[in-house]
Amino acid sequence: MEDILSLTKEELCAAVTEMGEKSFRAKQIYEWLHFKKVTDFSQMSNISAQFRDELSKKFCIKSLKIKKRLVSNIDNTVKYLYGLDDGQAVESVLMEYKHGSSLCISSQVGCRMGCKFCASTIAGWVRNLAPSEMLLQIYETERDSGRRVDSIVMMGIGEPLDNFDNVVKFLDILNSDGEAMSLRHLSLSTCGVVDKIYKLAELKLGVTLSISLHAATDEKRSAIMPINNRYNLNQLMTACDDYFKATGRRISFEYSLIEGVNDTDSDADELISLIGRRNCHINLIPINEIKERDFKKSRFVERFQKRLTSAGLNATVRRTLGADINAACGQLRRDSL
Ligand code: SAH
Repeated sequence: MEDILSLTKEELCAAVTEMGEKSFRAKQIYEWLHFKKVTDFSQMSNISAQFRDELSKKFCIKSLKIKKRLVSNIDNTVKYLYGLDDGQAVESVLMEYKHGSSLCISSQVGCRMGCKFCASTIAGWVRNLAPSEMLLQIYETERDSGRRVDSIVMMGIGEPLDNFDNVVKFLDILNSDGEAMSLRHLSLSTCGVVDKIYKLAELKLGVTLSISLHAATDEKRSAIMPINNRYNLNQLMTACDDYFKATGRRISFEYSLIEGVNDTDSDADELISLIGRRNCHINLIPINEIKERDFKKSRFVERFQKRLTSAGLNATVRRTLGADINAACGQLRRDSL
């Protein structure tokens, strides 16, 4: 059975006309799927019973099962563990900000990037998520919480640029009528898959790019992020400059502060010289301690930030949300394995 929710509007149109129906039928079906978000073909009341029957023989409408839901007592953050068709599971986290709610979604089951501080990569990579499985994290969260998702961050489990084609299809569907989300409200976070950053820039989708930097010299970065052995900092920064030039979107750099690893004054100075005069934003994150690794939270977060801002850099510290439900990358799935 084909996964109908993973089809872009153009693909659905082609499939429907191939089945001998007019293309406006595809528009109607697309609206049922992505705007009204029905879960069964029988709910498509303006489609003939006969065609609904044909559709249900050829296609399935995928769904996610809530395996776990944790609600923070501190700040209303909700963390979901979603079960997929094949028994795998991924996480999504709904966060509330002054300007609306933001959903952090996963792009793969597991991850093969091997970052030393990250829980999502410990058990390795299992498979890529289909476009539908990324969309359904949004649809199901909206349905369950009764809240509207205003922005998306692709910072959950997985490396989105390691699942490039499905992510691009997901963005296409998200941006089309249906959810109709402007891609300016979506941030895609990457550990630095340079060739795919160029490909994404070419598509000019207006997506905000977040780069997981975490260290400002090749030696230190390679020690905690294996991807740096494939694409070094010079190649990464050049790709970022290209992305900014092609899209006009300011890059956001993520820097998780780890005690004794990347949090000294000289680390800050190296970061200042790496960033130079670039128009960008630096997001400082106190590292989330995971039990499988002995990386500790830095005690110098404020001091590090002051050093950057004094040098004229635009650096903020990310507020910790959902502290009581351990709402960080990959930990819920990991605990359930
Ligand atoms: N693979 C993508 C997106 C998923 S990770 C990427 O690397 O960007 C989302 C963010 O969380 C990344 O910045 C990642 O480096 C960071 N991260 C992973 N484990 C963390 C931890 N234990 N504490 C703080 N940040 C972490």
